[in-house]
Amino acid sequence: MLAPVSDHRDIAAEQAGTTVTVDLDALAANWRLLADRSGSAECSAVVKADAYGLGLEGVIATLQRAGCRTFFVAHVFEGQRLRMLAPDAVVYVLNGLMPRTAALYLKFRLRPVLSSLLEMEDWREAAGRGRAPCAIQVDSGMNRLGLVPQDLAKAREVATRLDLTLVMSHFVWSGRASESDKVAAQIAAFDAMRASWPDVPASLANSSGIFSEHQPHYDLVRPGYAMYGGNPTPDRPNPMRPVVGMEAKVLQVRDIAAGESVGYDGRWTAPAPRRLATISAGYADGIPCGAMGVSDDAPRGQALVDGALCPFVGRISMDTIVVDVTDAPAIERGDSVELLGSDITIDDLAGGAGTIGYEVLTRLGARSHRRWVSRQGVSVTVSTPGR
Ligand SMILES: *Cc1c(COP(=O)(O)O)cnc(C)c1O
Repeated sequence: MLAPVSDHRDIAAEQAGTTVTVDLDALAANWRLLADRSGSAECSAVVKADAYGLGLEGVIATLQRAGCRTFFVAHVFEGQRLRMLAPDAVVYVLNGLMPRTAALYLKFRLRPVLSSLLEMEDWREAAGRGRAPCAIQVDSGMNRLGLVPQDLAKAREVATRLDLTLVMSHFVWSGRASESDKVAAQIAAFDAMRASWPDVPASLANSSGIFSEHQPHYDLVRPGYAMYGGNPTPDRPNPMRPVVGMEAKVLQVRDIAAGESVGYDGRWTAPAPRRLATISAGYADGIPCGAMGVSDDAPRGQALVDGALCPFVGRISMDTIVVDVTDAPAIERGDSVELLGSDITIDDLAGGAGTIGYEVLTRLGARSHRRWVSRQGVSVTVSTPGR
């Protein structure tokens, strides 16, 4: 007899070193909050990189149910995967048109974000009289991708034979109050460039842009990070709900004497007798090496153990981290500790490790047991390590 699905699921959870939980209800609530904050602008969703590492299937199903109709990915192959999940959605591909890929865009009804005259001319040729829809990106200060002011005269001419559905640009700034003047200057630069296409819908705001006092919402906003629970207002409290949780199992508990060191290169030495727990998570599970605990320094990474915040000590290994659990002495082999959740946010982990929450999210859980949960319980099933 086959084991019921729930038993199968539990066995996978028992074996896993780490479990990543994605709260799809929080994701939907975050998208609705962003849509509300954006007034009459359409709220799209940026789902590049497998929805910032959270799993495209569950994220798309949830956002479509919440009312999202327009999605952005980075690559044409991501667009193809999205098209299978969302047959009627509008899908833009941010990295634009690579040579010899136009046929895929047309076949899967993907809209390239054209960022140079070369791409615009390629698309005009590929789409022919069919005039397939596309966006253009203008560079308002990032110096990364997009048309520059010298391109505009020629771009206006090429664009007369394109079906332009969006003119967009991307913010340099991440929403700190001190950046307000620079944000205003970038909005002015965008306005000057988009004046070439006054009747085409415009888009500038990412997550942080949505919360800007300048309200650069235009016709469409493009949030990613905030939807997944990241803080779009880095010097203010996070208005978003946490979406991602991560837990790891305790492998061993031991007591060490003052003066003993922990981990590779002995970067941390016990100042006094300490109780340590070795947990089953490491940099191969997406915990950044920068979160290591070094003697004579503030804790960089922490775990929530039995209600107490306990610091990582020594270097992060590939598969293990050592945590100083002196303040949570009852913890035992097989117990779980929290690495991410409402007490330790992705911004906390990233900040301690000297990286950004976007990097934490997109590297998380390649070999974790993953659960997508919603009010109905575990909703989209589970992916075991090695997905
Ligand atoms: C990734 C990306 C976004 C989303 O940015 P967040 O800061 O995650 O909200 C929006 N627009 C472009 C062009 C992007 O590359």
